Amino acid sequence: MGKALIIGAGGVASVCIHKCCQNPDVFEEICIASRTKSKCDALKEKLDGGKTKISTAQVNADNVDELIALINQFKPDVVINLALPYQDLTIMDACLATKVNYVDTANYEPLDTAKFEYSWQWAYRERFEKAGITALLGSGFDPGVTGVFSAYAMKHQFDEINYIDILDCNAGDHGYPFATNFNPEINIREVSAKGSYIEDGKWVETEPMEIKRVYNFPEIGEKDMYLLHHEELESLALNIKGIKRIRFFMTFGQSYLTHLKCLENVGMTSIEPIDFEGKKIVPLQFLKAVLPDPASLGPRTVGKTNIGCIFIGKKDGKEKTYYLYNVCDHQECFKEVGSQAISYTTGVPAMIGAAMLLTGKWNKPGVHNIEEFDPDPFMDALNQFGLPWKESFHPDLVE
Ligand code: NDP
Repeated sequence: MGKALIIGAGGVASVCIHKCCQNPDVFEEICIASRTKSKCDALKEKLDGGKTKISTAQVNADNVDELIALINQFKPDVVINLALPYQDLTIMDACLATKVNYVDTANYEPLDTAKFEYSWQWAYRERFEKAGITALLGSGFDPGVTGVFSAYAMKHQFDEINYIDILDCNAGDHGYPFATNFNPEINIREVSAKGSYIEDGKWVETEPMEIKRVYNFPEIGEKDMYLLHHEELESLALNIKGIKRIRFFMTFGQSYLTHLKCLENVGMTSIEPIDFEGKKIVPLQFLKAVLPDPASLGPRTVGKTNIGCIFIGKKDGKEKTYYLYNVCDHQECFKEVGSQAISYTTGVPAMIGAAMLLTGKWNKPGVHNIEEFDPDPFMDALNQFGLPWKESFHPDLVE
């Protein structure tokens, strides 16, 4: 049916590529392009021989001209950005110049400020619309499936949704005292930032990890979770009718938090460059270099993830609660695609989002967050491609 250019060859890209190859009628041809071409070639070698035709390329995604040249040469129908949030705008620029659809899993973040919000990408709305192409923002799990869950709840269960709590639990154990499950630099920037949530249309800011709750997760049990700022809060508060409060919680074990505090206290999580032996280095980038590569955690991670949304709202004038979630097993993911569940739960929705555009099931020129599209075909595809969802009408609520 079509051609996808996949940028990035890390943990999430690897899963997405495996999944494209499981869906060859839609992904007839893919090109894997990244900074380090050997990683693209290794993925091609692993997956070649199926129905999906695979090629590879080297590209610096910070450079718009290089991206344009690659797009003009490969002529994809969609570009799937699985590099880092720093590259979102250059890749969107290249898509605009070549009139190709765009998909990503994380919103733009400037390299020198640990701040993420949609304003930079939403500023492209008119230009994408005029060019007749679609940018699908945030097609991972959170953001991503959490937005699809919200759209599905709104469409089928509620007249209005007043409260959403997004709960992200990773109960996996990789056996290291400290490691991150996706890109360490992006992960640590996210969790060491101030927390925030939206109440009555306004952002309420908290100190990092200030708000803690304990939740009894289905199929996992009780875990400590902490309120974080997260990008989908911003778009869901606008796109879901009736929102009074929306929060995001993520679980962390005590060992992770103790190590993080210690690293923060000694300055290792700073993104301010420092002089080191005559060179400028960024402490957090150095820390990334010494931490385990998230892609290497697959074989040693056991346990499950449970990510979902609890909705409280009204249907036919009556208050109602509804919980939609997915449980994913790290070892099952590893058996299937050689990756742990965090990469898996992001890479599968990235493939599905691109498939929605390639098949024309989603077609809305402009720049859109995922909850702005019809959730039904995406929900079906989640069941089909390894992320089945479950629902409950009487969940425990978060205080
Ligand atoms: P990795 O660090 O494993 O992979 C990133 C890849 O991008 C690497 O192959 C890297 O190349 C490549 N890359 C980085 N900079 C450039 C550049 N300038 N030009 C070309 N290629 C580049 O990250 P993950 O796979 O863990 O994460 C990928 C994305 O997914 C991130 O944006 C992350 O925020 C997002 N994510 C989203 C989630 C969600 O649920 N929505 C959850 C988890 C992650 P090299 O190999 O040379 O370093």
